[in-house]
Amino acid sequence: MSLSHGFAQRVIDWQAADGRHHLPWQQSRDPYRVWLSEIMLQQTQVSTVIDYFERFLSRLPTVADLAQASEEEVMALWAGLGYYARARHLHACAKAVVSQWDGQFPSASQDLQTLPGIGPSTAAAIAAFCSGERSAILDGNVKRVLARYFGVDGDISQGATIKQLWALANDCLPSPALVCQQPKVMTSYTQGLMDLGATLCTRRQPACERCPLADHCVAHHTGRTQELPFKRKAAERPTRELHLLWVNHGSQVLLQRRPDKGIWGRLWCLPVFDTAGLAQDAVDNWFAKGLACTRMASIGHELTHFRLTLTPWRLALPHSAVTPAVADATGRWVCGQTLANLGLPKPIKTLLIGATPDALATDSHQ
Ligand code: SF4
Repeated sequence: MSLSHGFAQRVIDWQAADGRHHLPWQQSRDPYRVWLSEIMLQQTQVSTVIDYFERFLSRLPTVADLAQASEEEVMALWAGLGYYARARHLHACAKAVVSQWDGQFPSASQDLQTLPGIGPSTAAAIAAFCSGERSAILDGNVKRVLARYFGVDGDISQGATIKQLWALANDCLPSPALVCQQPKVMTSYTQGLMDLGATLCTRRQPACERCPLADHCVAHHTGRTQELPFKRKAAERPTRELHLLWVNHGSQVLLQRRPDKGIWGRLWCLPVFDTAGLAQDAVDNWFAKGLACTRMASIGHELTHFRLTLTPWRLALPHSAVTPAVADATGRWVCGQTLANLGLPKPIKTLLIGATPDALATDSHQ
């Protein structure tokens, strides 16, 4: 008998008894909420997402609200979740739903995939949750469950292995007859697979003794849960050094918007330079020659493809140093109270958040 036989029913029964039933986005089949949660949950844990999800919805309760929101507001609501391309796609997707689909998300996964930022697995999850469509998901957690259960040896970052996992994910779906009789079964199955991957079949210590799939799981029976899924080790991430110019003028701090491409795309940030010399050149050009910055302790920050070492250089400008023309040319001057409402990269927010308006004002007169 094939290993996929009975797989779906075991997942469905386990979800009913032991799965998660109280996540905020589970209380609704509204495609906007389901889509928002799915995008936020990519690469991010449930415990982190819950606050962001609720704050986002309280400010932008419908897809039309999101489509109309300014980019700045969207980035500010997203700041701290990382992977900022997701926020830009989110905004673009809301605009496309409003302009191309009359403000209603399409129900079929094939149509959902045509929208910005929605890949096949996310489209399948939205369609399964909102319309009961019989479509397979294959996010990172599900790849791990299937690779272990079926004993898939190939590198899960490679196309051939991913294709094999998609085929297995389709084989495991509840039967068409069952989905036809009970459309809600797709919600239970899809949620069950997500829950199982997140809570039992975890990366480091899978709880096989509690798993409904343990009887037939290849990795469990062959003692290979630590080996599977296999992924070739990535090369050591390089370290990159950047220098931040932290300039205060009165109670204000100077920020610049990051370019579309590169790290922290479209977020507000302290001006960033590749070398300390370039940061000092900017001070000379923007304000006056001879103003010396104070070097602060460097901060480490991990990104997906490299490690960052950020060195802030601090400067409190005299009042006479910033004319309106200089202010326009250098970026945006923001007072301390406004910082919390801007979309700032996490390490920059952490750096600035301790500098209250009082501290900024005090420093600026030193
Ligand atoms: S038995 Fe263990 S390794 Fe296999 S699917 Fe369940 S938790 Fe994962």
